[in-house]
Amino acid sequence: MIKRTFLLFLIPSVCLTVFSFIQADKKPAKKKQPVLKTIIVDAGHGIRENGGHDGAKGSYSWEDDICLAISKKVIKDINREYPDIKVVETRPTEKITSLYRRADIANENKGDIFICIHVNAAPGQRKSEIVGYKTQTYYVGKGKNRKKKTKEVPQYRYWTEPSKAKGTETYIWGAHKTDDKELVVRENASMLQEENYKEKYGALDINSPEFVAMALLKTKQYFKRSATFAGMIQDEFVKVGRVDRDVRQRGVGIWVLQATAMPSVLIETGFITNPEEEAYLNSNEGQSEISRCIISALKNYTGWLEKKQEENLKDEKDNDKEKEKEKDPKKGFQAGVKNFLEMVDHNEKMQRRGR
Ligand SMILES: [Zn+2]
Repeated sequence: MIKRTFLLFLIPSVCLTVFSFIQADKKPAKKKQPVLKTIIVDAGHGIRENGGHDGAKGSYSWEDDICLAISKKVIKDINREYPDIKVVETRPTEKITSLYRRADIANENKGDIFICIHVNAAPGQRKSEIVGYKTQTYYVGKGKNRKKKTKEVPQYRYWTEPSKAKGTETYIWGAHKTDDKELVVRENASMLQEENYKEKYGALDINSPEFVAMALLKTKQYFKRSATFAGMIQDEFVKVGRVDRDVRQRGVGIWVLQATAMPSVLIETGFITNPEEEAYLNSNEGQSEISRCIISALKNYTGWLEKKQEENLKDEKDNDKEKEKEKDPKKGFQAGVKNFLEMVDHNEKMQRRGR
């Protein structure tokens, strides 16, 4: 596995541990749940109302068409490999789907992961060379002193060379957009409730501190999941010899990534502006290989989630030990976690009394 510089951004794994024992506190022992029920596949861009393409242009093809073709392959592969998982398409045809609609579809369908397929583009390099000289006439002085002179002026040829940029990169939402994501998680509270949160903690007011804390914790969990899955995707691309441009966060943010209340990644599958990659992206083999990489990453991701789930189902004893460890309020974050846990514990006690 490739060590990713990105991991520096990761939130300490403590937040997942926290979830572990919150869940393990409940008895009787929970049954194993499928870790992924719904996958949202989002083909980037599409043909606009006025007929124009929304995506990037290559020398002979468009990003819009490639995104759709790869997405269709990914969906087919998921259906074959995971017949029990529901797959929802945000853009099933060549026509564009608005960004808002994409996020709505993902949230309404309560996706467990949002996979956004795109194609990258880099501006070409403007080049020039001298192709010859032209003699130009000019005059100096006035009146009788006026003299005719000539000079040689270089003549240029200009052209644009395609960018040499190539390879794949996978984006997750920018850490600085975490507030936006948290708000979306809160606004889509029904998703949390479906995971038995209501049963556990009662009908919480979404503006209550308890609920905000819970949404924040969920958001951090999504962040860790997004980053982990993104890293796994890049690892698979490396295995088939693609150039690795790593897991990234975009400064301006990618709206749809923070507007979906679930872990989310955006895959730039290659550069349409690089002739070699444009051919690859348009080929059946290339598209299939990209899809296979995404499916392999998905397998690793579900395996990782299952392992997490196993850990969550471990006996209470282990979790009590963990709890002791985390009671040490050495760091601000851990102190925050401690407060959160106390709040959840308190909430649970109040509920038990009420029953
Ligand atoms: Zn794009």
